[in-house]
Amino acid sequence: MKFEEVVGQDDIKSKLVAQINSGKISHAVLFAGNEGTGGLPIALALSQFLVCEKRNNTAASDGGLFGAPAPEEQIVLNDSCGICPACLKAQKLIHPDIHFTFPAIKKDTNSAGISSEYITEWRQAVAHFPYMNQNEWMQSINAENKQGNINVGECKEIIRQISLKSFESAYKIQIVWMAETLKETGNVLLKLIEEPPVNTIFIFVVEQIDLMLTTVLSRTQIIKLPPVSVNAIENYLQSEKNIVAKDANKIARVADGNVRMALQLTELQTNEFQGILQQWFSTSARLLGSAKAEASVTLGQITEVFQKMGRENQKGFLLYAGWILREILMISQNLGSEKLQDAELDFATKVATKINVEKAKEINMLLNQASYHIERNSNPKITFFSLSFKLCHIFNA
Ligand SMILES: [Zn+2]
Repeated sequence: MKFEEVVGQDDIKSKLVAQINSGKISHAVLFAGNEGTGGLPIALALSQFLVCEKRNNTAASDGGLFGAPAPEEQIVLNDSCGICPACLKAQKLIHPDIHFTFPAIKKDTNSAGISSEYITEWRQAVAHFPYMNQNEWMQSINAENKQGNINVGECKEIIRQISLKSFESAYKIQIVWMAETLKETGNVLLKLIEEPPVNTIFIFVVEQIDLMLTTVLSRTQIIKLPPVSVNAIENYLQSEKNIVAKDANKIARVADGNVRMALQLTELQTNEFQGILQQWFSTSARLLGSAKAEASVTLGQITEVFQKMGRENQKGFLLYAGWILREILMISQNLGSEKLQDAELDFATKVATKINVEKAKEINMLLNQASYHIERNSNPKITFFSLSFKLCHIFNA
């Protein structure tokens, strides 16, 4: 992946490039950012940039007579070339000097549960969706609801790999994705991280830095990834995904700095979300006065609608509901909404009269919980029914 393919994060990219071009890159970098901020894509772009032959000026065609260039011939680039053999291998995740470690599980009793057992699935998953989260990764290796981790066997494998000479590049790179799944066993890596062989670079990617092994953390240069800007996501959706301007803008705002979510929203029935949300909230708001049996039937019908959506739409819908809820809260506090227009604005204004900060907080927490359960393959009927029932009480409290 080239830096230009990473969505947004321009400041981070230019700082990294400047560090490398001035020879000041740390030998252990850690990217910390929430889901969808691009930790893995940046790690991929950084490693490709490091091995790119054009940058190192080692390509046979433009190298000197005997290959190795004099230092003054080093070309200063702002991105990898994307077309030299090293870039092509990096792009396919088959470069022999770029190693990957990621959470895994034991396949069976004979399995060590280490990354090399899943390298084919890894290459496919990253090629398909470099913005994936850990849960999507675990699903792509059929781990179902297991969390997966980076175990001691994998740590030993890292030590073994790093002790080998680099094959084709001046650098040897070890990417550790979801490094927070590295538990105390990760301490066997400390010496290596502190004093790695020359030209060895560790790139850690974490989403929850507070879960990261502090002994490893203290030995890295931490680079925090902010949410991706609305503008960057909007431009990306228009130019790379052919989304029309109006939709791209809305999706970028709902996604709230999370590129993974933005990409998922582009594939969902987002146009229908507003109608469903309106029906859901208004039914919940009026139901409590009616008889219990009737309420149960009506909630059952709405739950059916959610059930038919499919899991991805359910997650997208809950995200959308959370986004609208924040705007409803703004309106209820007389701060207005700059993000909503037309039917959405009318709807939000009506709901705002029935809500206060406490209620909004409670609903937001319930939406997040439901999202968590749906992501972990809960039964959507039960999740949405119970959520709707709680909504009734909150609206009518
Ligand atoms: Zn290249």
